[in-house]
Amino acid sequence: MIPLVDLTAQYHSIKKEIDEAVLATLASGHFILGPQVTKFEENVAAYLGMKHAIGLASGTDALVIALRALNISAGDEVIVPAYTFFATAGTVMSVGAKPVFVDVDPQSYQIDVNKIREAITSKTKAIIPVHLYGHPAEMNPILEIAREHGLKVIEDNAQGFGAEYLGRKTGSFGDVGCLSFFPTKNLGAFGDAGMVVTNDPALAERMRMLRAHGWKKKYYSEEVGYNSRLDALQAAILQAKLPYVDSWNDKRRELAHRYTEKLGSYLVTPIEREWGKHVYHLYIVRSAKRDGLQAFLKQKGIASEVYYPLPPHLATPCRKFGYKEGDFPHAELASRETFALPLYPELTLSQQDGVIMAVKEFAH
Ligand SMILES: *Cc1c(COP(=O)(O)O)cnc(C)c1O
Repeated sequence: MIPLVDLTAQYHSIKKEIDEAVLATLASGHFILGPQVTKFEENVAAYLGMKHAIGLASGTDALVIALRALNISAGDEVIVPAYTFFATAGTVMSVGAKPVFVDVDPQSYQIDVNKIREAITSKTKAIIPVHLYGHPAEMNPILEIAREHGLKVIEDNAQGFGAEYLGRKTGSFGDVGCLSFFPTKNLGAFGDAGMVVTNDPALAERMRMLRAHGWKKKYYSEEVGYNSRLDALQAAILQAKLPYVDSWNDKRRELAHRYTEKLGSYLVTPIEREWGKHVYHLYIVRSAKRDGLQAFLKQKGIASEVYYPLPPHLATPCRKFGYKEGDFPHAELASRETFALPLYPELTLSQQDGVIMAVKEFAH
């Protein structure tokens, strides 16, 4: 059996460090915020080259809190890619605003920067580029459009930890960068966890208040906030993992390049635009015979998965906006033809060869 991702393999590779970090936190008595969380926040801020990092309960909360801190609410529109995890659009709706979708580039799967301008209206307040699958979105044109129209930029960097655009880390370009440490992400906790990063001290303070009931001073709420603090145990685990994330990303890249080299004539394999460093959160391929190929792989004990079977504009909560099939053809085709092959840093070459052989066998 070859899984899509193997979280226990990573735990066993650094078990001693993680166990010690967990036990030290248990003994410390600090479970809500405290030194473990602060240390991890400082280290992620330094890793991304940012001034402020605020640990939160999830990547979804990171998006909500970023939107709230930028005062985005009912009557506002926010531009999001038509192909992404639903939370990118769902969080816009949860603060009362409307997600306005823009189709994706069919090769990189990133928001098509040539279609953003036509989606802007007098109500547009922000753009949320997503560094989907770990490939960077094309940030310079996005930042330029945002500047021209006075829009905020919130980067959904949930899948792009360690990725780079023109040599600089994704998540460090926008007004706010949002991170998820969901267990399967490139830097994954043992539960839910997330973070926002920013260089703006006022935004940082507002987001710090929003994560704990709108408090500047404890028990004195200044606005309605959330209970969305990064758990100290998760922070300790993430801190133990952080020094390894670059080598894990390098391993992902090596394995991805090996897949691409060996499968390029059988499937449409992922591309890397010249501006970016792709960290392969997922290794996404495309085939017109996807469903048959997935069934064949399954029969051989090889896992694969579709990310995502339904583009967000066709999901039930977006029906009220009147979006319909055919509105975003590249996103819709991707939802029918793309899927992920097993890829994680601990995948062995012989496991990978098993996947490669099975794909070739299906093609013959
Ligand atoms: C995982 C993910 C999120 C949400 O993160 P959670 O930590 O699961 O809440 C948001 N956007 C994208 C693109 C994601 O992949």
